[in-house]
Amino acid sequence: MTALVMVLGCGAAPEYRWAVHDKNRPQPKIIAPGTASTPEQPGGPPSDAIVLFDGTDLSEWVNTKDGGPAKWKVENGYMEIAGRSGSIRTKRSFGDCQLHIEWAAPAEVKGSGQHRGNSGVYLMSKYEVQVLDSYNNITYPDGQAAAIYGQNPPMVNACRGPGQWQSYDIIFRRPVFKKNKVVRPATTTVLHNGVLVQDHWVIKGNTAHKRRAKYAAHEDKLPLSLQDHGNPIRYRNIWIRELPEREQP
Ligand code: MG
Repeated sequence: MTALVMVLGCGAAPEYRWAVHDKNRPQPKIIAPGTASTPEQPGGPPSDAIVLFDGTDLSEWVNTKDGGPAKWKVENGYMEIAGRSGSIRTKRSFGDCQLHIEWAAPAEVKGSGQHRGNSGVYLMSKYEVQVLDSYNNITYPDGQAAAIYGQNPPMVNACRGPGQWQSYDIIFRRPVFKKNKVVRPATTTVLHNGVLVQDHWVIKGNTAHKRRAKYAAHEDKLPLSLQDHGNPIRYRNIWIRELPEREQP
């Protein structure tokens, strides 16, 4: 008790910017929420989202390597990785965000492990949420669908079967650097088909293969990219909401 009084006496009592139930507090902005997807039909985005792919064209995307046109196939409301035409990235750059993306692995099963329905969602083009056909397909756990590749397996395997549409809802907070030092690492929360699979995971660094991830300082915003790993994965209904930055450390 004495210690508590002392602490309060030293001016450590918490300070609040707003009173409880303060009517002067700004109202949250009103937006129209989107609609849910069905297997047949992609849903609609919330009104404040940036639509990155609505099923019609790749105007928001370029080839990752050379910045030229994205060469993936677009048909029937989805895009599909076309025969090693290369990974693609958004023209715009993003930092903190909420991302919705839907994907389907080929209905015809070919290969196994990492060679079956492999692609990936690369946040800031550096941090991969793995896309893999993990339905009855064993691989190393930190490389299966919805893993933070090479770092953390999903909490459960919520994969749908080959050919079926699946969703990722990803909340991502970018890393903060001061010069070359990580002041605050990136974090991500991922829902796979509506199931929580990554719970505010602290990302360890740039996605790497067969070695530990390490950070390398980069810009506050970078493009989102989708991996061409040689398998004809399909994507549809991609939208992103930029989030207000957290307070800087
Ligand atoms: Mg991958």
